[in-house]
Amino acid sequence: MTKKINRRRFLQTSASAALTATLSSQVNAEGLPSSPAIGGKFSSPAALPKPRGPRVVIVGGGWSGLTMAKYLKKYHPKFDVVLLDKNEQFVSCPISNVWMADQVNLDFLTHSYVEAAQKNNYLFLNTVALELDRTSKVLITTMGSIKYDYLVLAPGIDYDYNRIGIDNPEDEYALRMNYPAGFNDASEIISIKHKVHNFKGGTLALTVPSGNYRCIAAPYERACMAAAILKKRNIRGKILLLDMNPGIRIKAEGFTRAFEEYYSDYIQYEPSTEINGVNLQDKEIETDFDSYGFDDAIIYPPVRAAAIIERFGLTDKNSSQKEAAIDRFKYHLVDDEHVYVTGDSRSQPFSKSGNTAHSEAKYVAEVIVAHANGKEIPWRSPQTMCFSGVKIDPLESMSIIAFYQFDEREKTFAFDRTHLMDQWDSRAGQAGLAWAEGMYRDMFYA
Ligand SMILES: Cc1cc2nc3c(=O)[nH]c(=O)nc-3n(C[C@H](O)[C@H](O)[C@H](O)COP(=O)(O)OP(=O)(O)OC[C@H]3O[C@@H](n4cnc5c(N)ncnc54)[C@H](O)[C@@H]3O)c2cc1C
Repeated sequence: MTKKINRRRFLQTSASAALTATLSSQVNAEGLPSSPAIGGKFSSPAALPKPRGPRVVIVGGGWSGLTMAKYLKKYHPKFDVVLLDKNEQFVSCPISNVWMADQVNLDFLTHSYVEAAQKNNYLFLNTVALELDRTSKVLITTMGSIKYDYLVLAPGIDYDYNRIGIDNPEDEYALRMNYPAGFNDASEIISIKHKVHNFKGGTLALTVPSGNYRCIAAPYERACMAAAILKKRNIRGKILLLDMNPGIRIKAEGFTRAFEEYYSDYIQYEPSTEINGVNLQDKEIETDFDSYGFDDAIIYPPVRAAAIIERFGLTDKNSSQKEAAIDRFKYHLVDDEHVYVTGDSRSQPFSKSGNTAHSEAKYVAEVIVAHANGKEIPWRSPQTMCFSGVKIDPLESMSIIAFYQFDEREKTFAFDRTHLMDQWDSRAGQAGLAWAEGMYRDMFYA
C-alpha cells in the first residue's frame, strides 16, 4: 500500500511528462527519486540575481507564502527574499463559492505574482520545488538549484483519496477529473462552476470530509451557493450533501436554518456518512450503511499536508494528515532552525484558512527575523476569520472570528476567543467581500 501511494504522489508532483521520464529511471526501492540524480539534472543555479543579503526562499505563493515574502522583506530589508510558485498567477480559493454563484467576477479573485514581487521588493520565480538538500541548504527546482539561508515551506494541501477507499491511481484520476473537489486549484473550481450552471436535474452529490480539512465552513457554503443557482435556474434537482462528520462542523445553527428556510426543496443533508468508496460505473457513493446514487458530484476527500512535505522527508510519523514535524510555537523543523513550515501544511490543529495563514505568516516572519538577529519573540495566536455566503442577489453572509490558546493540560491548542455571527445579511455579504479585497491589497499591492 505504502509503495502505491508513494509512487502515485511521485508521479503527481512531477512537473511534466519529460520530467517524469527522467525521474522514473532514477527511483529508489520505494518509488521515490534519489536526490543526487535529480540534483544532477537540475543542479545548475536557477537564473536569479545574486543574493544581496541572507537569502530566504519561500515555496508556495498562496496566502501564507505571499504574506511571508512581503513581511520578511518589510521587517528585515537586508533579507534577499525569493518566492516560488508552480502557478503563473494567483487565483483565490476564498470567495470562489461566491464567484461560482456570480456575485463577483473572476478578476476579483485573480492577481499577479509579478506585481506582488515588484511592489513588495522581492523576487518571484514560476517553478516547481522538487528536492531538498538540507545539509548543503540547497533547494532543487525545475528552474535549477537555489541556495538558501532560510527556507519556508508553505505548499498548502493535497487530497488524500485513500481515506475514502480510493486506492488505485486510475480511480483517483477519474475522480479528480470527473468529480473534482475544488479546494486546491483554479481549474477544479472553474469546472465546478460549469457543472453547477449546466446541471440539468437529478442529484448533485457534494461531500464534506472528516479531519482538519481546508476551510471548515466552505463545503456548507458551497451547498448554499449551488442550491441558490439551481433555485434561480428553476432546476428540478437536489444537492445531496454527504457529511463524513456527525453534524455541521461550524456555524451549525445558521447553516441548519438556511437549509430549512431557503433550500428545503434543494438540499438533502446526510450527516455521519463514512464514505468508503465511490462506484464510478454505477455513479454511487458507498458508505458504511448505504450507498447513494448521483447524477453528478463534487467529491471533497479528506486532506493531508502537500505532498512535498513527505517527499522532502519532513513528515511527523504521528501525524494522520502527514504534516511536518515542527516546533508548534516557532514553526521550524524540530531538528532544523533554518527550515519552517507554515499555512495549511502546518501540524498545529488551527483552522486551515486563508486568514489564519495570513496572520500566522506575519508572526512567523517576525520569528525568522528575530532568529537572524539572535533573538526570540513571544508566541502569538493566528486569527481565523471566515465569511460564508448563504443567499445571493444580493449576497448575504454570516461570519466567525476566532483566536487560539495553548491548553497546557491537553498539550494542544484550543479555541480562545470566538465571535460568531450566524444571522446572515447583506451587510455581512459586503463585509466578506471587503475582507477579501483588503487581504488581496495587503498581499499584492501595498
Ligand atoms: C472554496 C473555498 C473557500 C474558502 N473560503 C475561505 C474563507 O472564507 N476564509 C479563509 O480565511 N479561508 C478560506 N479558504 C481556505 C484558504 O483558501 C486556504 O486555507 C489558504 O489558501 C491556505 O493558504 P496556504 O498558503 O497554506 O496554501 P495555498 O493558498 O494553497 O498556497 C499553496 C501554494 O503552494 C504552491 N505549491 C505547492 N507545491 C509546490 C511546489 N512543489 N512548488 C512550487 N509551488 C508549490 C501552490 O501552487 C499554491 O499556490 C477557502 C478555501 C476554499 C477552497
